[in-house]
Amino acid sequence: IARNPYECEFHQAVKEIFDSLVPVFVKYPQYMDHSILERIVEPERVITFRVPWVDDRGKVQVNRGFRVQFNSAIGPYKGGLRFHPSVNSSIVKFLGFEQIFKNSLTCQPIGGGKGGADFDPKGKSDGEIMRFTQSFMTELYRHIGPDIDVPAGDIGVGAREIGYMFGQYKRIRGSYEAGVLTGKGLGYGGSLTRKEATGYGTVYFVEEMLKDKGLSFKGSNVIVSGSGNVSIYAMEKAMQLGAKVVACSDSNGYVYDQNGINLDTVKRLKEVERKRIREYVKEHPQALYVEGCSGIWSLPCDIALPCATQNEIDESSAEILVANGVKAVGEGANMPSTLEAIDVFLNSDVLFAPGKAANAGGVAVSSLEMSQNSMRLSWTFEEVDAKLHQIMENIYRNTINAAEEYGHPGNLVVGANIAGFIRVADAMIAHGVI
Ligand code: NDP
Repeated sequence: IARNPYECEFHQAVKEIFDSLVPVFVKYPQYMDHSILERIVEPERVITFRVPWVDDRGKVQVNRGFRVQFNSAIGPYKGGLRFHPSVNSSIVKFLGFEQIFKNSLTCQPIGGGKGGADFDPKGKSDGEIMRFTQSFMTELYRHIGPDIDVPAGDIGVGAREIGYMFGQYKRIRGSYEAGVLTGKGLGYGGSLTRKEATGYGTVYFVEEMLKDKGLSFKGSNVIVSGSGNVSIYAMEKAMQLGAKVVACSDSNGYVYDQNGINLDTVKRLKEVERKRIREYVKEHPQALYVEGCSGIWSLPCDIALPCATQNEIDESSAEILVANGVKAVGEGANMPSTLEAIDVFLNSDVLFAPGKAANAGGVAVSSLEMSQNSMRLSWTFEEVDAKLHQIMENIYRNTINAAEEYGHPGNLVVGANIAGFIRVADAMIAHGVI
């Protein structure tokens, strides 16, 4: 805390993981001898940079860019870029730290990193987005590469932004390095199923967790927060599995549709027209729009999938969900539940799937995109989807087995943290003190 003052999200992520690791250190004191915790909590490198750009009125704007290259023990740094006004060093460090363990859980050869900028894409023209992303990449390019660090999207960064960044990287480097970014368009090295991967993967993971208890998505009422990339494809897969999704949101408010959310409308509003979720009720007058996004957790549901942002479920929202009879909570977003909210879930009968395991499908398919780029070929949607499904099943099995082995049966928070940690710690020991 003294070394990283004011970085409360980073402290929160570290506390959750370190608390889980106690039984590992009891069983394997050699991790202590190698000072693994002291090393793993310190990023290998943090890069901060100025991002100047010119807005549509000809005025110069300045934002701050970040890239945290946290850990490269098992592969090149890998993790998304977030463009949101709330981005600061605490946010990128918590995300980068979580990413180390998540990437390890996928069993793919990828290290942990994260980045972004305190830039607000909302209300910006296409030209402004392009000028900003080009300026961002003009600095970032010197720190990344297909075998060094491979960024992808996150909040505020989708296929359009990745396209502009890829173009600028290619222009500066003078070479076509397809594997330098993932989440690319399908016409120039992107992978089928990448767009769907985080949302689908979250639902695949939760489905495994439900199956173990004789439950399923079929016939369940589901609430999904957010209406961005992760939310939309979590809703799609949940619906395909026979669930009724009754509510979704954005940062202004939520819609409740007792008939079940019409996903075509949400996709058009959000992916094509880039409008607010409140517009939904204009086309579906039976639905209700409520200002304020946190109220979504007061709606009764069987399964809750928080897919918007960090700390969106606090202790009181968790208590309401439990009181309303929620059976399972699956985190599509990164760290959407506060530590107190997690305690509420773990001390109840609720099945709880932590984000670093449940939302690992996105980065897993990003790794498959890197493989396809290296091999210069493209797999079909069905091939990638089948691999994603298998990876999510494996993550669930490894997580539940680690929880059992280390004395916390059924606790997937502990299981995910331990299973993710051991692979990275062993590689760090093998590499010597670096
Ligand atoms: P998008 O930008 O596509 O969507 C984000 C959604 O969350 C939007 O509906 C947005 O609403 C809402 N949101 C963002 N910030 C807030 C906030 N402070 N309060 C309330 N709502 C908010 O991002 P993604 O779907 O890509 O990411 C969502 C979450 O999933 C993040 O936690 C991200 O780190 C995580 N994640 C994403 C992966 C991916 O592959 N994309 C992979 C793994 C995890 P609004 O439009 O109003 O801002």
